[in-house]
Amino acid sequence: MKIIDVRKKLPVKGSNGLMDKNKITHCVIHHDGENRPNSYNSLNRYIAEANYHINKGWNRISYTYAIDNIGDIYWLNDENQILYHCGNLTINKKSIAIKFDGNLEIQKPTERQLKAYKELMIWLTTKRPDLPLIVKSSVKGHRDIKATACPGKNLYPLILKF
Ligand SMILES: [Zn+2]
Repeated sequence: MKIIDVRKKLPVKGSNGLMDKNKITHCVIHHDGENRPNSYNSLNRYIAEANYHINKGWNRISYTYAIDNIGDIYWLNDENQILYHCGNLTINKKSIAIKFDGNLEIQKPTERQLKAYKELMIWLTTKRPDLPLIVKSSVKGHRDIKATACPGKNLYPLILKF
């Protein structure tokens, strides 16, 4: 599993507050809803998303981790940062957000994305004593929390397959 730390490379306007990692109860799965080309610069994609989210008033990119087309995992925010990702403030204040690149209503997740996702989720749910409440039953699709297509019909049935 390759995690690329880009926390210091993304534009940030401010913080929405910090969570106690012992009290983080949800891990919410998203797609970004944007077309995923066969080849692209992942960091540039996340810089653009960070600016988009800042312009919406969310202060920073609204995902904790992102998984690109080749299965590299990008670390976007400290796990204790409150992020405006799921449209429910109560859940935002006790969750981390995992995002697949792509419009997974239309596109399929790549095999490499799914392999990286499984490794990331096994690590987060079984190998992280500092996130004690993040277990398999903590993992939800965005659509489990509010009415949205996210994380897309081609990904949603797969989010607990790890
Ligand atoms: Zn979402």
